[in-house]
Amino acid sequence: MTNTLTETVCLHCGSALPSSDLAAGWCDSCGKRLPGSYKSGAKAAQAATAVADQPDPRRLPFLLGAVAFFIVVPLAGLLYLARLAG
Ligand SMILES: [Zn+2]
Repeated sequence: MTNTLTETVCLHCGSALPSSDLAAGWCDSCGKRLPGSYKSGAKAAQAATAVADQPDPRRLPFLLGAVAFFIVVPLAGLLYLARLAG
């Protein structure tokens, strides 16, 4: 037993998986795809240290504005064309 609880090994070849391999979902040693549970487990393990990667809540209004923009502008264009045609 050389593996610790925090070390994840490849299901296919048994080599240790760095977090980069887990994030990519592929084993670099054998080139095979890792099961989804590996990826989610890695995400959960990294969640505590990835606080800085969380989306900025101040971006949310901007995103909503951008979505509204891309909905309203085509609709306005369609209405304008409809008036021209009518
Ligand atoms: Zn492997």
